[in-house]
Amino acid sequence: MIARYSEPLANLDYLYDRLAAAHRLAPHAKLAITTNTDYLTPVVLDRLLTLGLTRIYMSIYLKANVRWTLDVARGYTNRLVKKLGLQLLSSNETRVSLQCTYRYKTLDLHATCHNWNEYGTDRGGTLEQYIQKERIGPCRDPFETFVIDYTGAVMPCCALRSDLPQGIKFAVGNLSEPGTTIFDIYAGQLSAWRRSLVTFGSKTSPCTTCTHRDIPEELAASIAARMEKHLQHIGRYQHFSSRNRKQPDGLVIG
Ligand code: SF4
Repeated sequence: MIARYSEPLANLDYLYDRLAAAHRLAPHAKLAITTNTDYLTPVVLDRLLTLGLTRIYMSIYLKANVRWTLDVARGYTNRLVKKLGLQLLSSNETRVSLQCTYRYKTLDLHATCHNWNEYGTDRGGTLEQYIQKERIGPCRDPFETFVIDYTGAVMPCCALRSDLPQGIKFAVGNLSEPGTTIFDIYAGQLSAWRRSLVTFGSKTSPCTTCTHRDIPEELAASIAARMEKHLQHIGRYQHFSSRNRKQPDGLVIG
C-alpha cells in the first residue's frame, strides 16, 4: 500500500511509474493506495485499474471550519460518489465516523469520514490532544503491517513517523543500507517489538497511551481470558505474561 502521511495522487506520473514497477516485480500482490480524493477522477481510476491497483482507501476531510455531523459526512461522501460514479456496497455509521465501501469496475474502494475532534490516536505520544488513557490491550499493527518510509527507514507501525525527531529513534532498520532485507528486519528487530505487544497490560513508550486499533473496553476481559488460555495451551503463558515479560531484546524504547 502506498500511503504514509502524503498524497500519492499529487504526482500522478510518479505514482503510475511506481505502481507499474510494483506490479511487474510482485504480480500477485494486491496493490492499494490511500488518498484524500482531491485529485481522484474517473480517468484516474481507469488508469489505476490498468496498472493493477486493487484497492483505494479514501480519507474524506471536511473544509476548515466545517463542523462534523453525520449529515455533513453523508453530504461529503455522496458528492464524492457522484463525482466518481461509484456503486455503494456497504455503509456503517457511528457517533464519530461514517465508513462506506464501494465498487468501481473491479476496484474496491473504502471511504472514511471521521470526526477528528473526537476520533484519533496520539501517534506514539506526539499528539497531546489525543493522549487520554493508558493502553492495556495488545496491538496487532506490527503483526499485520510492514511500514517503509520514503527514506528506506522501517517503522514498527503506521502510527510512528521517521521524519519526526520523536519518531526516528523507533526505526527498526533502513532498507537503503546495502545488504539489509525486509526479511532480516521482520524476523529481527521487529520480532522483539511484536513480542512486547502480544498481551494485555501496561505498555512502554511509544505505545503507553496509543489507542490505535485498541480493543474496545467492553471486549477486553473476554479476549484477555481467551488469550491467556491459548498462551497456556501452547506453553507460552510464562513467556508473555505481564509479570514475566521482559523488555524486547535490542529495542531502543523511550
Ligand atoms: S500501540 Fe505501539 S505499535 Fe501499536 S500502533 Fe500504537 S505506537 Fe504503534
